[in-house]
Amino acid sequence: MMAAPDPIRSIVIAGGGTAGWMAAAALARRLERHAVTIILVESSEIRTIGVGEATVPGIRDYFRDIGTTGTEVMKATNGTVKLGIEFADWRQQGHRFFHPFGLYGSPSRGVQFHHYWLKLQAAGRGTPLADYCLASALAADNLFMPPPEAPQNDLGTFDWAVHFEAAAFATFLAGRAQADGVRHVDARIAGTEMDSATGHIAAILLNDGGRIEGDLFIDCTGFRALLIGQALAVPYIDWSDLLPCDRAVAMPCTRADPLTPYTRSTARAAGWQWRIPLQSRVGNGYVYSSRHISDDEAVATLRAGIEGEALADPNLIRFTTGKRAQVWAGNCIALGLAAGFLEPLESTSITLIQTGIERLLDFWPDRNVDPALRTEYNRIADDEYQRIRDFLILHYWGNQRHGEPFWDAMRAQALPHDLQRKIDLWQSRGRFVRYLWESFGDPSWLSLYVGLGLTPRHYDPLADFFTEADLEGAFAKMRDAVARAKALAIPHERFIAEHCRN
Ligand code: FAD
Repeated sequence: MMAAPDPIRSIVIAGGGTAGWMAAAALARRLERHAVTIILVESSEIRTIGVGEATVPGIRDYFRDIGTTGTEVMKATNGTVKLGIEFADWRQQGHRFFHPFGLYGSPSRGVQFHHYWLKLQAAGRGTPLADYCLASALAADNLFMPPPEAPQNDLGTFDWAVHFEAAAFATFLAGRAQADGVRHVDARIAGTEMDSATGHIAAILLNDGGRIEGDLFIDCTGFRALLIGQALAVPYIDWSDLLPCDRAVAMPCTRADPLTPYTRSTARAAGWQWRIPLQSRVGNGYVYSSRHISDDEAVATLRAGIEGEALADPNLIRFTTGKRAQVWAGNCIALGLAAGFLEPLESTSITLIQTGIERLLDFWPDRNVDPALRTEYNRIADDEYQRIRDFLILHYWGNQRHGEPFWDAMRAQALPHDLQRKIDLWQSRGRFVRYLWESFGDPSWLSLYVGLGLTPRHYDPLADFFTEADLEGAFAKMRDAVARAKALAIPHERFIAEHCRN
């Protein structure tokens, strides 16, 4: 006979950075009307990582789930709009391409748009891919508008994310979480007490002598991974052989350039530099491989590559790319940097926190924590991290920066099997491979393949249904549709001033 669940009555969140407060705000909302206490413990003596300011469009689902909007968040965090990422100098010096949050062109007769586009390219009658994507068109002229609710077709719509100040975002979430009943404890976690019968964490021990019991523990203690790594000894899988960047230096500056509605990633000698435009400042950072340059050289490169006056000393961060072998062990779920880290090339860490929370709610256990739930949760997390990892590798592997040791090594590396299969199918006839739990869809892969100049051997033969002249006529109409939609937009700077100024 089916028994009633023995529900979770107490949740302890360790850590109060982006991960901790995202979890607190979301769980407080979703668990309202359940008799459960949520306590977040953090130490004001231990700094948060202080970076993590660019997101992907899925973040707007999180905003909705906690009862807020992108506009409200941008207002509270000096935020701006993000329509995608501009990649400068990745293919080779002087070359740029854009990875938009949007779709390209219209498919026809069951054949994807890009095959027709490739057909015209092959005939020497090509036009830029970006001409068929509204998000790219808006970004090119620093424009924005909320996407239409009922677009006439794919050409009239796009997706968007936000940039925000990390500390302000955590403060914003903390306010909401506490208003929804989350208890905040400022204390240093000094250890854990284990339940010898189950191997679960029974309580965390504080250095002021306090002790906090819980049924479920969420480890958001950042790279320290106090619970999942230190208490439960779950090993870390190191992927630095595939993504060798292992350090970053971050330094904000004043803004001199326009308020762009996108992140910029510029390839450098031993990695890449980010530029994240905010209302208050510009976030900059150089992600690099310490085997290829020294910290001093990285700092000097960053200083020379920022547009305004530095607003803080360089913040040096070391990391190891990879993930925990299990992100859920016993009664402890790791989120954020405690769970793993993939460099911020596509701004995926915050989205992984979000999907980690959503999946936890989807697999919500009772106090016995059925191992079957854990196993499936971990299997999905493995897939999700690996898919993102592979997408990041493509950015490096596809470079044509010949004669630069870091970039030569990235081109020469052996690829993971699943990624190799994707590239093989693209190169054969422009075919995408989509696995379960992909964070990036076909348009993202298309942006990268085309942006890096990876041309397939041929396009889909079924695209020959249309003549080149047919296609040229249809393509002109698509460009017109993008231009008409774009004409409704306003400058991003004006949108922010009118809707998102604090
Ligand atoms: P942290 O911010 O490190 O927070 C850890 C918390 O644990 C703190 O509150 C601390 O006080 C607490 N703590 C630790 N030890 C103890 C203790 N003993 N007792 C009590 N409390 C303790 N992600 C994106 O999505 N987009 C980006 O653009 C992006 N850029 C990044 C750039 C770099 C260089 C790096 C390294 C990361 C970037 N990330 C980005 C990742 C992003 O910063 C993190 O995923 C996010 O900030 C979550 O961090 P966290 O909350 O897990 O850890």
